[in-house]
Amino acid sequence: MDSARPLIVGNWKMFGLESALKQARAVAESLARQPARARVGLCVPATLIERLGRALAGSAVIVGGQDNHVEIEGPFTGDVSAEMLEDAGARLVVLAHSERRGCYGEGDELAARKTEAALRAGLEPIVCVGETLAERQLGRTLEIITRQTTVSLPEALKGRAFALAYEPVWAIGTGLTPTLDQIEEAHGALRHAMVERLGDSGLAAPILYGGSVKPANAADILHAREVGGALVGGASLNAEEFLAIIRAAD
Ligand code: PEP
Repeated sequence: MDSARPLIVGNWKMFGLESALKQARAVAESLARQPARARVGLCVPATLIERLGRALAGSAVIVGGQDNHVEIEGPFTGDVSAEMLEDAGARLVVLAHSERRGCYGEGDELAARKTEAALRAGLEPIVCVGETLAERQLGRTLEIITRQTTVSLPEALKGRAFALAYEPVWAIGTGLTPTLDQIEEAHGALRHAMVERLGDSGLAAPILYGGSVKPANAADILHAREVGGALVGGASLNAEEFLAIIRAAD
């Protein structure tokens, strides 16, 4: 666990063919020339994990997946286990992203089981929580994200490397971001919930902010209280933009 360094992770979602690997190579080459303060990861479609690992061999960029099943193997057509991600070269995995919660009805109990599976395979999970716009407008943000955190983080995380990502659903891919005060308020509540749930392990793990992080807002967000890094969607597909976000943490 290296909680002193921020963690900046790109989430490529369902984007990226072979041709996209040149963006990842450009990120790795820049970090080799000038190391960053942040730890950097790229969570890519399962089809690219092995190729990304080969393209980045020897680089500081950590390869990750975007979801894992709870079982090691079995008759679950179309799914990928945490062990399979690890076998392909992944070391990180994003879990319970709001797109999985929204598109596939994944809830907090499933998030906890998927997190246990990731730990079983030796992956470092990044567990996502976040309120919808309606929930924020009703003044329920802290209640919702506290409950998601308490239920989604299993006891098994004690003593293990992991991150929580606060991603307001209404900020993802929209260009909208909460104010810095709103981010700090949410991260403060999440820190409290993590410590209540996991004790010292809840104190050590970074809380990433995610939702329309761009070069223009990255420095302010990354230097806000209790922000331990960023989960970056759209901007992580472009090496220049992703590097500008990474350098904003230097
Ligand atoms: C994400 O995919 O987790 C995300 C935060 O996306 P974007 O940065 O594009 O809002």
